[in-house]
Formats: sequence, C-alpha cells, structure tokens
Amino acid sequence: MIYQPKRVYIEEKAISYEIGKRLYDYFTKKGVEINVLKNNKITGIPGKTPQQAFAEGKSTLAIRVRKKGEFQTCKPSAHYQLPLFSGCVGKCEYCYLNTRFGNKPYNTIYANVDDILNQAKEYMNQREKQVTIFEAAATSDPVPLDYYSKSLKKAIEFFANEEFGRLRFVTKFPQVDNYLDIDHGGHTTIRFSLNTDTVINSYEHGTSTARERIIASKKIIKAGYNTGFIIGPVVLYENWKEEYRELLKETANELAELSDSEIHFEVISHRFTASAKKQILKVFKDTTLPMNEEDRKFKYGQFGYGKYVYPKEQLVDMKEFFTQSIPGYFNNAVIDYII
Ligand code: SF4
Repeated sequence: MIYQPKRVYIEEKAISYEIGKRLYDYFTKKGVEINVLKNNKITGIPGKTPQQAFAEGKSTLAIRVRKKGEFQTCKPSAHYQLPLFSGCVGKCEYCYLNTRFGNKPYNTIYANVDDILNQAKEYMNQREKQVTIFEAAATSDPVPLDYYSKSLKKAIEFFANEEFGRLRFVTKFPQVDNYLDIDHGGHTTIRFSLNTDTVINSYEHGTSTARERIIASKKIIKAGYNTGFIIGPVVLYENWKEEYRELLKETANELAELSDSEIHFEVISHRFTASAKKQILKVFKDTTLPMNEEDRKFKYGQFGYGKYVYPKEQLVDMKEFFTQSIPGYFNNAVIDYII
C-alpha cells in the first residue's frame, strides 16, 4: 500500500529544488491540499483528540529545505545519521519516534538532497581514509517517503562511488523495486524488520505483512546488497516460540535458493520507557502491548534514561531460543546480537 498524504506543506524555497518542484506539481495534479509556507512554521494540522492529532499528523507531508547543521551521531551502528527524511508513515504502537515528534507527527522530505550528500562527503573527508557509515533510518523509515522523493535512491548511487562511505537503513516496507537496478557497489546495507503475524497485526499498523517484507528482502539479496533482518521487538506472548519459529521457517524457505548469501540477524526484545508508555497510552488507549512494570526489570540505558526490559530468566530463554533456531534454518546466518 502506497502512502497517500491528505495534505502537503511545502516551503516556498523547496520548490526551487528538483524534488520540491516535482512533488509540488505531482500533488497539485492529484488534487491534494497544498500549503506553501513563506516561513518555516507548520500550523493548522487538524485533530482535537490525541488519536485524531496522531492520525492527521501521519497524513501530513512536509517538504522542506534542511538547514546546514551538524548531522547527529548514530552510535553504535553508524557514525552519523543521514537526514534525508524525518517521521514515518507507519503507525507502530511501540515506535521509538512516538516520543520525538509531538502530538501531530507529520512526515518530512528534505528537498536539498545534494546539499545533504555534500555534507556527508565533508564528514568522510574529515575522517580521511577511514570508512564512515551513515544511517538513513534513524528518524524515519525512509522507504515509503522515498517512493516520492527518490532521494534515498540518489544516496545509494552516491555512496556506490565513495570508497570510504557506507550507507545503511532498515525498513518495514516492501517498495524496493527502485533500488534493484542500481550499481550500488556493495556500499549499502538494507535490512528488513521482521516480526510474527501476531505482533504485526496487533502493533505495526500501516506497515506491511511479514510475507511482503520477506519477498522484498529476496529481491534485495538477489540485487547483491548486504542485507539482514532485525527481528524485533520480540514480544514474549503465549506461543511466541511457535510463531517466531514459523517466521524463521517461512523466511528460510523463501530464501532457500540464495543460501550462498550471508544474512545478518539482530534480535531485540521488547522494552519500554516510562515516557513511551505514557505517550502510547494517550494515542492507543486500548493497546495490548505488555507494559506492566511489575513484570519487567528496570535497567538504566546508555543514554541516561531507564527502560523496562524482560526479566533475566525470560531473556536467557529468548536468547537460547534464537541462538539455536536461527542457525537451524539458515546455514549462512551471522547473529550480530540478541538483546
Ligand atoms: Fe516507527 Fe518503524 Fe513503525 Fe515507522 S515503521 S512507525 S519508524 S517502528
């Protein structure tokens, strides 16, 4: 399913860039409400209740010019974020972005992709002959927005020619056909987030099915990209073992003919912070996400705030399960971590 914004805000100066002009024309032709911004302020997104505000924010697309400012660092998986987008069209209940973009979390495409890539080049130059990794999914799932902008595609092409630059991103969306014919030079890693049907249907609204993601991953592997799966958040509900086993089996069956390709796995158990819980309960009043503090262990995170993780015995059980099951289905698997 392709994201269709209900309204678009575009900064006047963004229209002077190729992406801005193209999208301005495209959405005008489509009859989508367009608001041209003379200044940077986005006002007037409707939504009285937290649920309406959330839904209307997600239905809003902003096209802006990114001001030159430092890229955020992105440890431990990359050196820097690559800020092509912010926000996400998905509506996952547990999403880490839910506490970041206010009560009307609109989506943003930055129109000045060349400026952003030139700045990435400056960071690479500063590190001289050391590989510099950029993460394009730190504040967004970039794939559904790239369907419109094609700036992620441009970034893949850009990094293909950068001896010391690498790009990575993760997605829950299957619209990857634009990337299949790119001469990417092996410099981009595309990972897919996977989960059981129970978790996807209960919590990952507005994304895609596991099957669609697996089929997309197969195309990406065939196109020679480095790839892998993030299985997470792993939720330990009744029958979780059977269902995660089924997910691994289905994935392995679909990828059976590609057994020469190395596939990386990252497995992340469900965790939540107090502020995330508060925000989730505001928007998803009837959520069934397991967020009972008494069932969890409180742990201080590396960024200073605490989070509620599964207790040790459950985590040990989960780790054992994936450590044994993944190699059982994939003889080419590399497990990067299970947390
Ligand atoms: Fe958040 Fe990813 Fe879901 Fe988008 S797809 S809402 S970024 S968890």
